Amino acid sequence: MIRNIQTIIPGIATSDGAGVKLRRSIGGQNQVRLDPFLMLDEFSSNDPNDYVAGFPAHPHRGFETVTYMLEGHMLHEDHLGNQGHLKTGGVQWMTAGRGIIHSEMPQQVSGAMRGFQLWINLPAKEKMKPAGYQDIQVEDIPKAALANGGSVKVIAGTYEYDGNVTAGPIQGITTAPLFLDVHLPPNAEFEHRIPKELNAFIYIYEGNLELGGPMREVPKQAAVVLGDGDRLKAKAGALGAQFIVLAALPLHEPIVQYGPFVMNTRTEIEQAIDDYQNNRFVIA
Ligand code: MN
Repeated sequence: MIRNIQTIIPGIATSDGAGVKLRRSIGGQNQVRLDPFLMLDEFSSNDPNDYVAGFPAHPHRGFETVTYMLEGHMLHEDHLGNQGHLKTGGVQWMTAGRGIIHSEMPQQVSGAMRGFQLWINLPAKEKMKPAGYQDIQVEDIPKAALANGGSVKVIAGTYEYDGNVTAGPIQGITTAPLFLDVHLPPNAEFEHRIPKELNAFIYIYEGNLELGGPMREVPKQAAVVLGDGDRLKAKAGALGAQFIVLAALPLHEPIVQYGPFVMNTRTEIEQAIDDYQNNRFVIA
């Protein structure tokens, strides 16, 4: 059964960090979420004033942050002394777990800065696990070539095409996330099996696309939630299309969020605030 468009979560212009301009879809207005996805930001600008101030030191607890850089250069530093350079095409997959205090600062003063930051929830039993992260460079992200001239970058999970399985560098996460970046030339088609147990959405960032059965135009700069089914079927328009595909198993657990802390109960949030204010937030 082909999945159709179920809900559209528009990306609303906002700013975060020290004034970085971005569009927030999931997790924005009314905190509309798609379990286990908590938030999706798209940042895209050619004007350094929109991004140079970056995201100075701030905490996270209870979930994972995934940054995918389409264009630009960001430096990540955390309280453990880790330092990572996120460059064009690279991904940082950070598990905040019990707690991380980090900064995310643009390393450029001109040109385009473009990409996504996605927050994925952790199950209750993993929210207090030690923090960790993986920096994945562009050359370590496998890309499947399609016969129609398109390509599929596999960041998390697997993509199967013409009998070949392409596995992304991110594997073994409890919510079994799938993260693809699909590029299609004009009028090219794309199909992929997404098991019915997974919640899924796509976000088109270039060109135009239609999807479903029957096909329906996909709005741009919005998280487009897919309905019931086990297959995504899409077709690029006259401009071709570039879009990300995300899917994961829902957790079905209560969520209590206070900014960058996402826990299951109010007591756990109060604990996070208390830990942060009293220097007990992170494991030294
Ligand atoms: Mn952060």
